Parts: sequence; C-alpha cells; structure tokens
Amino acid sequence: MTRPLQITVLGATGSIGLSTLDVIARHPQRYGVFALTGFSRIAELRALCLAHRPRYAVVGDDEQARALQAQLRGDGLDTRVLSGEGGLSEVAGHPDVDVVMAAIVGAAGLRPTLAAVQAGKRVLLANKEALVMSGGLFMQALRDSAAVLLPIDSEHNAIFQCLPADYSRGLPVVGVRRILLTASGGPFREVASAELEHVTPEQACAHPNWSMGRKISVDSASMMNKGLELIEACWLFDARPDQVEVVVHPQSVIHSMVDYVDGSVLAQLGNPDMRTPIAHALAWPERIDSGVSALDLLRIGRLDFQAPDDRRFPCLRLARAAAQAGGTSPAMLNAANEVAVEAFLNRRIRFTEIASIIDDVLNREASVATRCLEDVLMADSRARELAGQWLGRHGR
Ligand code: NDP
Ligand code: MG
Repeated sequence: MTRPLQITVLGATGSIGLSTLDVIARHPQRYGVFALTGFSRIAELRALCLAHRPRYAVVGDDEQARALQAQLRGDGLDTRVLSGEGGLSEVAGHPDVDVVMAAIVGAAGLRPTLAAVQAGKRVLLANKEALVMSGGLFMQALRDSAAVLLPIDSEHNAIFQCLPADYSRGLPVVGVRRILLTASGGPFREVASAELEHVTPEQACAHPNWSMGRKISVDSASMMNKGLELIEACWLFDARPDQVEVVVHPQSVIHSMVDYVDGSVLAQLGNPDMRTPIAHALAWPERIDSGVSALDLLRIGRLDFQAPDDRRFPCLRLARAAAQAGGTSPAMLNAANEVAVEAFLNRRIRFTEIASIIDDVLNREASVATRCLEDVLMADSRARELAGQWLGRHGR
C-alpha cells in the first residue's frame, strides 16, 4: 500500500483550515498531517496538534514558539515548533510534503504559498489574496515548477470542474464564451444605500449561506470578495476581465458556470459547504467523501439570479478596473482593502468608507508593471501607507 500523502495546512486554525482537517480525518489511509500553522489562536493550534500529531507546527514569533514547544512536550508530542515567515515557507516547501493547503488570510500568505509552488507541491489555493497580488509572477512560478494548482474558492473550483481538461490551450480555443461567476450578494444584498452607512461588523460577518473568517465575510458583504474572485479567475483560467460576468444567485447552490459557444452552460451545484471543493482538490482526479450531505433540490425549490449592483457595491467596480489596469493595481487594491476591512472591523470607519479608501489609494498612485516579487511587495506597502494616510486625514 502507498504511504498517506503528507499535508501542510497553512492557516490550520481558520475556517478553511478546520474544514480541511475535517476532510483529512475522514481518510486516514490517504492523508497524514505534516504541519499545522496558526497565528493568534495558539490554544486552538495546540488542540489541533494533539488531535493530528503533525511533525511541525508554526506560529508567529519565537516567543510563542518556545511556549507552544514546551506545552507540546508536556503533552508528550514530538511536534517541532517553528516561527515566522521562514517557518511557514519551510513547512510549505519541505521535501517530505506532498500537498499544501494555502489558507492563510491576506497578503501574509503570499510568500509561503509561493514557496509551495516553487517546491513543486500540489497546492490547494484558498488564499486568493496571494494570487490577486502577484498574478503574473505566481502563474509564471507555476509554469516553472512541477506544482499543480487546484482552486479551493468554491466558484473557481466549480469553474475548474466545468472546464475541459485542456482549458489551458485558451478559453476561446476550447469553445468557452464566458465564465459566469456567481455571488450570493452577501448579508446586505437587499439593504438600501443609506442604511449601508450604519451597518456593523457583526451584521457584516453574519453571512446568510457561508460560515467564514471575519475578513472574507466583510469582503462578501462589500462584494470585494467577488472583485478579488474576478481577478483570481482571470489568472487561473487565463481570461480577460470582460470574459467573466458576475451573476448574483442568492441561494449559493450553483457555485459558478461556464458558457460555451454552442449555447451549453455547465454549472457545478452543491450545498454551500467548503468541504466539497476541499475534498475535490485533495483527491482530484478521484472523488472522496467530504462529509457534506447530498443536495436536496426539492427542499431548495428555486434558484434565483440577479444583476450585481455596482452603485451600492462600488468595490466590484473598483476591482474590475484594477483587473483591467493590471500591473501593481490589483496588489494595491488588495492591500488598501485589507487596511480598510481591519479599520471597519475595529469600528474606526463606516462600512461604506471601505470603498472610499480603496478608491482614494488607487487614484493616488498609477499602476506600474511588476517584474519581480519586490515590486509587488513595494506596491503592497505603499498602498498600506496611503490607506493609513486616509485614516489620518479623516481623524480615525
Ligand atoms: P480565517 O480568518 O478563519 O483563518 C485565517 C488563517 O490565517 C488562520 O489560521 C490565522 O491564524 C491565519 N493567519 C492570519 N493572519 C496571519 C499572519 N499574519 N501570518 C500567518 N497566519 C495568519 O480565514 P478563512 O479560513 O475564512 O480564509 C482563509 C483564506 O481562504 C482567505 O484568503 C479567504 O479569502 C479564503 N477563502 C475562504 C473561504 C471560507 O469559506 N472561509 C472561502 C473561499 C476562500 P489564527 O486564526 O491563529 O490567527
Ligand atoms: Mg468564493
């Protein structure tokens, strides 16, 4: 019998990380846990280490690493604890690792995800921000290595499932007219513009269909998540922004669709549970049980579709413009959004000011080409600085 595939879960303490561990634990013959990483939820990371007995654990800094190491030793585990970006990249690119789940949230996941790509792993990409920031460089690193990239984002996983195996020959070549990226519309889909000024972080994080981390929940509420996903789709499937159409579908049962020139539209459906795309990407091209219950279409009854509203949700328009501008624009959009979302979660700005900050940052700095990772990281810090200046100017 072959040995279980060794998996590193970057961002194990998060929503995607926990769903991944749930799927892995259903298949102990197929999968073993090599490394688990956390950042602020150290007690949770310790509990995960006890349950999954990984070879490595990674935390944010040396002090946390020493403390967790002592605790794990006391627990009778020989898990080695590493720290920082170096530790993350080490467990992402380690020669004994087969699969890396990239599920750190935000720009912090960029280097370790790239390390997994460069080391030729099977990379399960949840951390969309990494690809949005560094798109062209990321895809080039993929072509230069033996890595296999499988999308975890439910929409992109759905599109991947609806595309033919040879889609990398080019979408028009394989007969694709356009990609239909579905969006739930988030918790504020029906909320009037004037009311959006007063919504709270708690309301923004109460997503109607999906249970997710706080940052992506706010992104879903502002529709920036769909904007980031539009950019993600362009890179993953070599599409132009105008080949990706956003369709609001409140039930989140269809996870996205591909429209072909002969009039066929292929869709992937399922209950809104991230264990489905995770299990798909883990086992691809095989299929394994994910723990997700069968879809009950009779209970769902109907599937609705609407056009997105760019006026109430300007983030989608800003992201489309950044996708079209290319260069450093997507990295700046992403960084400004990260600062703005954090400020909103900390009650320093209103919900509607998320878009104002991003718009301001993108207007202040022209997009330039990105030749190397340093260019991307510089654009990221410049956008954070400009977003910080916006907060300063507005007394927040
Ligand atoms: P969570 O906030 O639940 O988890 C984020 C993970 O990243 C946690 O393990 C967290 O550690 C870790 N982390 C946070 N900051 C840092 C840092 N600076 N350095 C290292 N690790 C860090 O987010 P989600 O699981 O919801 O999302 C993860 C990614 O997956 C995001 O990019 C999101 O867009 C994407 N995604 C998520 C979906 C979902 O359903 N949740 C769906 C599609 C995509 P700790 O908790 O210990 O602080
Ligand atoms: Mg998604």
